[in-house]
This record gives sequence, structure tokens and C-alpha cells, in this order.
Amino acid sequence: MPCSINSRGTAFCKLNGLLQCHNIYHSVSPSIKIPKEIAGIKLCCRGLSSSQKVSYKSSKKDTSECLPKQAKVTICGGGIMGAAVAYHLAKLGWGPHTLVLEQGSVGGGTTWHAAGLLGIFKPTLAQVKLCQSSVALYKELEEQGYPTGWKECGSLCVARTSDRMTVYRRMKAQSVSWNIPCELITPERAKEICPLINVDDLKGALWIPGDGVGDPYKICTSLLQIAQEKGVQVIENCSVTGIRSEHRKVKVIETNLGAVESEFFVNCGGFWARHIGQLSKPTVKVPVHPVEHYYLQTKPVPNLDSMTPVVRDQDGYIYFRELNGCFLAGGFEPVAKPAFEDGYIPTTPGERRLSEDWDHFFILLQEMLHRVPSLGDAVLDSLTNGPEAFSPDCKWIVGQAPEIRNYFVAAGMKTVGISAAGGVGEATAEWIVNKRTKYDMYELEVSRFLGLHNNIKFLRDRMREVPGLHYKLQYPFNEFKTGRNLRMSPIYPKLREAGAVFGQVMGYERPTWFKPPSALEFMPNGVQPFEVAETNTFAKPPWFNEVAEEYAACRETVGLSDYSSFTKLDLWSKGREVVDVLQYLCSNDVDVAVGSIIHTGMQNDQGGYENDCSLARISENHYMMIAPTIQQTRCKAWIQHHLPADGSVSLSDVTSMFTAICIMGPFTRVLLQELTDTDLSPKSFPFFTYKEMDIGLANGIRVMNLTHTGELGYVLYIPNEFALHVYNCLIHAGKKYEIRRAGYYATRALRVEKFYAFWGQDLDTSTTPLECGRTWRVKFEKKFIGRDALLKQRDEGVKRMYIQLLLQDHDPETDYWSWGGEPIYRNGRYVGATTTTGYGYTFKQLVCLGFVRNFDDQGVRQRVTNDYILSGSYEVDIGGIRYPAKVNLHSPILPTKYPDQERESYFATRDKMVTEPILRQQQ
Ligand SMILES: Cc1cc2nc3c(=O)[nH]c(=O)nc-3n(C[C@H](O)[C@H](O)[C@H](O)COP(=O)(O)OP(=O)(O)OC[C@H]3O[C@@H](n4cnc5c(N)ncnc54)[C@H](O)[C@@H]3O)c2cc1C
Repeated sequence: MPCSINSRGTAFCKLNGLLQCHNIYHSVSPSIKIPKEIAGIKLCCRGLSSSQKVSYKSSKKDTSECLPKQAKVTICGGGIMGAAVAYHLAKLGWGPHTLVLEQGSVGGGTTWHAAGLLGIFKPTLAQVKLCQSSVALYKELEEQGYPTGWKECGSLCVARTSDRMTVYRRMKAQSVSWNIPCELITPERAKEICPLINVDDLKGALWIPGDGVGDPYKICTSLLQIAQEKGVQVIENCSVTGIRSEHRKVKVIETNLGAVESEFFVNCGGFWARHIGQLSKPTVKVPVHPVEHYYLQTKPVPNLDSMTPVVRDQDGYIYFRELNGCFLAGGFEPVAKPAFEDGYIPTTPGERRLSEDWDHFFILLQEMLHRVPSLGDAVLDSLTNGPEAFSPDCKWIVGQAPEIRNYFVAAGMKTVGISAAGGVGEATAEWIVNKRTKYDMYELEVSRFLGLHNNIKFLRDRMREVPGLHYKLQYPFNEFKTGRNLRMSPIYPKLREAGAVFGQVMGYERPTWFKPPSALEFMPNGVQPFEVAETNTFAKPPWFNEVAEEYAACRETVGLSDYSSFTKLDLWSKGREVVDVLQYLCSNDVDVAVGSIIHTGMQNDQGGYENDCSLARISENHYMMIAPTIQQTRCKAWIQHHLPADGSVSLSDVTSMFTAICIMGPFTRVLLQELTDTDLSPKSFPFFTYKEMDIGLANGIRVMNLTHTGELGYVLYIPNEFALHVYNCLIHAGKKYEIRRAGYYATRALRVEKFYAFWGQDLDTSTTPLECGRTWRVKFEKKFIGRDALLKQRDEGVKRMYIQLLLQDHDPETDYWSWGGEPIYRNGRYVGATTTTGYGYTFKQLVCLGFVRNFDDQGVRQRVTNDYILSGSYEVDIGGIRYPAKVNLHSPILPTKYPDQERESYFATRDKMVTEPILRQQQ
């Protein structure tokens, strides 16, 4: 009998037995579930022993008298995130003005379930820095006598496949810049570090000795205890029921115990955060959804080493650690189960308990027993099923809400909230107190979302896929499979019919590349199947040849690309107000002749890029702004925050009103001229200008004479109802010019080769125009946000510089490619990392863009000059192999069959100050 039931009705199960039970029942009929009495392990949260309890005290009883009438900051949620924000606010001196409200008991939400793994390696530098701060804090608190349960047992990440080893090699290469000591090891060495594991099927492992584990509840209560000592007030059994705003700014927090006037509000509501977002007007979008997350715990296992490392076997979806002499093992199954799908988000701990689903857990159990055979003899104690909040892109959600000022969010922490809390709490407190953070965090900011992301049906669909991503082997350009075919331009069916393979950005289906006609496979109904782009390798991608042809069309004939996802805003006023506000928001001079287009940054106080956009002056007091797709919410919020309070400037998001088609290549002018009566000669329609024109039989098309790839061409902003007509006209008339549809991968290759920086990929809130060769676009003679910081930087010199590197001795056929994030070495010394990279189809080399710095012998950053850049010899480290690289400081001149004077105007990075538009100046 593999399992027996003891007198209390609880199963006494060895894990091997449980597996057998499952196999027996499933072999009879896959639909039969493990009977409750066999799998009926008590539902439980990880109970803390009395010795683990800490001296945290609820500061007040849950009566209305205890609720202050006012607080500068009110934090909703007493989980680890709320505790960390409170702790850091207190550290910055705001303790007496900070209030934490918790609907139940502190630490009683998801924090209570956490397995306590504290790993530092994360996908991006900002995330790594935040986790490094967390671990440093927990260590420090432990040393000061505040319990955190910190134990430095290390992490052992094992690899079953060569591709996983490649990921570890890339991580090892990055570890130098991220300051994470780690080692690539053989399976034999992995066995020495953790003798429990089966290494027969392993290719190797990554050993991170500085990682560890902690006790989430202790960390949470220690943080709150210190916060209380510094004046923070914590009230339990107090539910936030509403957030009132005035002039879109936080004003009053309503609770079941009364109202609190507050200047700031922080939503640390864990998986309740979306629901809390709906308690205000307007709703604050916090797209999180709870997902079931499982781990099991065994009874004590004799002689289990307390310093057993945390083992992560991502190819088998699992992890395990030692806890109080027992095994704790969990994982991230490839297809997850969203929790509370009926939409009711429970409030009481009883209601929140999720029932165990052994059938769902089975895939993990199997892998656990494979990796740790001795686990099979361990006796099961409990299976925990805790709800955890995931966001639709599997990233944390932090920062100021675009809907209401002074409303901050720190939620959606997925299953690494304990590792992240210390750093995210610090960043949130800095945002509130200092109005800025140490690191650029745009990739995590709540303003990255649109309304569609907060749609509950979208979230539920996406949630089945998101948790699995945590351990999934992520190849370059990873694409979600769920939540697709949601946002499409009117020409989408035509593009699909033509063989488009799609990627998704801000919900938009965007062609990445096109299959050749010979590869099209139509379904019985005559429709081309929807295909999601996959790269599935770190080497030469499968789409290489098709993209080469699209690239060639853009350079030699005509390429056509769907740019509809780009953010499009209209800004206007009766008088000059719109000009004045844009002059203040933009670092370039936007007071140009009507019909001109200006490329400009919108800087913050430190001179960093809050936005990078093109502004077409449509009429005296009317501009159309084109900004990156991912900025649709974020840049709008930035502009709205700076518009005059009297409402004299209007802003309208017209993204969904226009289809944008970009045509690129030497024959674009003749092609377009066939379709319009408007004179397109350079004299009448010069580069970097705008005209509204008729095309085909349609009218009112906003045409901009520019591309974002450095090729000659136009972007057509077409009212949606005319989009299909204009597209058909272009394709039809374009046949004789060998028009070809081009996807995102081709346009990316074009811009990387031309050394064009893109916001969100190369530029961020901490990068200034002076650092990326765009000083010529900054007009110091006028007043604008960030001017002082840029003037200071101009005087002192920059401490990092944007460069282009062309890899030498790299064979694109056989070597691994650079995909971004690779370390750059100058004269053998680490100086920076790549941002975007791509294959230069003209150079026939891999091209990397990135930033380099200049460290002195003490590691202090020094000025970076052109001489410094040009006098160095460079290498780029791809997964442990360093490739020599030739450096460029300015846009290179690419050979072309069709030389054209206009091409020079496209140089994104220039060595001398010039004023655009160049052609207009020459007239
Ligand atoms: C099974 C499991 C294992 C995990 N293991 C790990 C791990 O090993 N390492 C790791 O780093 N992370 C782990 N995590 C993730 C981690 O537990 C979470 O990311 C973290 O606890 C989230 O903290 P939080 O403060 O955001 O949420 P919570 O802890 O859920 O806190 C939110 C609080 O808000 C309160 N609240 C909600 N609504 C209101 C309201 N209207 N008014 C007042 N209060 C309200 C709730 O009662 C709750 O206490 C794990 C999660 C699970 C489920």
C-alpha cells in the first residue's frame, strides 16, 4: 500500500507512494483523479514554529479611534511590499507621516506562503540591482538582531540541455558587469555541491554561492518593527475601501474605520492590487491576476544538510531547498492555473485557501523525484497552494500610476517578491520622497500598460502562460502565445494573407518577417494560419534569409512596413499655448515652420529621456506627435502632467484612428508620385516635412517625409477607413518597383546598422542626448526641462557614450549571436554592455550598439571623450567568447546603388552641430 491514512484522517505518504497512486489511477483512466483520502494531505500554509515568531506588535486595535485623520503617505497592504516601502520611508525620515493599513494581519497574504528563496540573478540590470539591495538589507538586519532567517546556502542551477548551458554561459558573462560571483561547473562538481541530486542527464550547472534563503514572515515583520520604531503607524483589520482624488491627485483614503486625508497612496495589495485599483475614480490599471502556485513540504529527513543549496532545475520546472530539516520543493508548471477565476477576490484567510490539485502538481512531483531520488522516501507533510499575483508580461509593477498623481504601485511581484521587496521598497520610497530613483525602471513601471492589459478575460488567458515563463528557456524575441489576435491594424488580414509571421507589442500584432510565397500553407477556408514568430536559437536565426530579402528591398527597391502600433498624439490650442508647452517639454526647438517635422527628446530634470519622438507641425497651433509604441500610456501621462491647468492645450490619443504604413527605399518617391497629385519633388516636399494629401482615391492622409530606419521614404498616417485602399494601391502600383513587405526584424536590422537609438531599447530615463551623440538636437538657448542638468553635463563632460561595434572574427553561420546585454571590454577591461544588436546585411557582420564608460584604477567613473573611445581596442563577450570589434562613433555611410543627397540627412549620430532640417536650410 503506497499510502495509508492515520487516525486523524491524514494521509501518511512517502512521495514515491504518491507517485505510484497517481500512476495507478491514471493508468485505469486518465480522467480519474487521485481520491481525496489518498491525496488528502492537509491543506496548509507554512506554519511558523514559536521560536520563529518575532516581536512585531500590531500598533493599534482595529477601532476607528486609532485611525489618524491625516497621513502624508498611506500604504495599503501589510505584506512584504508594504513593509519594505514603510521601512524605507521611515529610513528617509518620513516614519511619523506614514500609515500602513492591512485588512487582515500583517504578513498574512501571499507573503505567508513564500518558500523563502532569495536569488539575485534576474533578467535585467535594474531587477538585479533591486534584488541585490534586498539581500544586502536582509543580511544587515540579521546582523543587527532583527530576524530575517537569512542563510547563505547558495543556488545551484542545473542544465539538462546545451541551450540551457548557453543561457548560463551568457549569465556568467553578464555576472562580471552585474557583480554576481558565480561559476560554470560540470555535472560532477554539481554532485559534489549537492550530493542529493541525480546528475546523469545534466550538461552542467551554474553555481551562485552568494544566493540564499530567508524567512518571508520574519523579514516582513522585522521591517515593520523597525518602521514602527521610526514612527510608522500600522493598523490591522483595516480595509481600504476607496481612494478619492482631486484634480487627479490623491486626496483621501477611505477605510472601513473612517477616512484619512493623504498626499500619497501606495497600492501594495499583492493579488488584490487590481481590485484596489478599481476603488478609485478614475480606475488605476494594475493588471495582475492571482495564479495557483504549489510546493510540498516533507516531514524531517534524517541527516539532511541544513546548508543544502537551493537547487533550480528549470528544464524540469522545479526547485527545492532545505527548511528546518525537511525538503521544500515547488515549481512552475508550463501551463498554470489562474486562481479565483469567478472574479471574486476573497478577503478572509479562510476564503483564500486554495484546494490542492494533485493532478496539476503531478508534473512537478515527477520531475522532483527524478532530480532528487531520495525525496521519494521522504514522508509528505503538506502541499501548499498559494495564490500569487502575476502581471501579463511577467514583470513587477512599480512606479506612479498614470491615472492619478501621487498614487504609487508596488505589486505583481510574481514569485520573487521576497527577493525583490527590499530594493523595490527602497525605489518606491525614493520616488515618493526624492521624485526619482537610483536606477532606470521604465521596464517595470505601471505606465507600460494599456486598458487591454487590465481586461480580466485577457489576464485569465495570459495567466496560463505567464508563471511557466519564469523557468522557461527564453530565446531571443520571445513571444506570448496567449492573448493574441487582439489589436490589429485594418491591413492585418492582408499582411497575414501575404505570409506575415507576427510578434506582439502593446497588444498589437506586428509582422516580424514574411514567409515566401512558396512556404505559404492555406487552411481549407483559404486563410493563411496565424503564426507567432519564434527564433528558438541563440545562433543564426531561422528567418535570416527572408529578412535579408526584405532588408534588400528597403535599400534597393521599395519595402513596405506596418507602423500602426506607434503612439500617435495630437496636441493643439487656440493660441500659442501648445507651442510654449512643447518648447518647455522638448529639448529641441519645436517652434519651426508649419509643415516641418522635428525629432526631439523630452528630458527629465536630470536630462534623461522621458520620451523620444517626432513632432510634425500640422498648423500654427497643432502638432502631431509620433512616439515609440511602448510609450502610449507613459508619454501621454508625462505630457498631461505638464499641460497648463487651465485646459488651454488639448491632447488626444489618435493611435487607434490612423493606420501607419512606412514605405522605404530609393523608388518610394516615384511610386508615391504615381498615386498622388501632390508634388513630391524635394523642393516642394523636402526631407523631414509633412503634408496632408490624397493617395489613390482616398484623402486626408498625413504623410511624413522620413523613415525611422535611415532609408529614404515616407510614413503615411491613413484614416483607418482608407487604410486597405491605400495599401492595395501601394502594392498594386509597387509591383513594377519590386515592392516587398518588410517586417520588424528587417527594419530593426536597418536601424541598428545605421546607428539609430530607440527609446526603451537604447535610450532610457537615465540616458542624456549628450551621451548618445545627439547634442545637435538640444537647443540650449531656450528654457526646457533638464536644461540645467544638460548644461552641467556639457561643461563637465559625459561619463558614458553610445557607440557602434562591428564584430570581427565572428562567423554568423556557426558562432552564437549577440542579442543584447553582452559585456563590452575595452583594452581587456569591462566598460559597458550592448543594448540592441543585429545582423548588418550590408556590413555582413554582427552590429552591436551599446554604452561604454571609463573607470579609473579605483573603479571611479571618469570623463568619456571621443579620443578615449577611438583609442581603445574593443571586444564583445558572447557567452564566454570575446570577439574583437571595430568601433564607430557616428552613423556610418553605407554603400548604395542609388546615392542620394537626402540620405546624409538621416545620420542619427553626427560629429558636428547641425540644425535640421538640413534640406530646408539649403533652400
Ligand atoms: C507558494 C508561493 C511561494 C513563493 N515563494 C517565494 C520565494 O521563494 N521567494 C520569493 O522571493 N517570493 C516567493 N513568493 C512570492 C512572494 O510570496 C510574493 O511575491 C510576496 O509575498 C508578495 O508580497 P506582497 O506584499 O506584494 O503581497 P501580500 O503578501 O499578499 O500582501 C498584500 C497585503 O495587502 C492586504 N490587502 C489587500 N487588500 C487590502 C485592502 N483593501 N485594504 C487593506 N489591506 C489590503 C492583504 O491582506 C495582504 O496582506 C512565493 C509565493 C507563493 C504563493
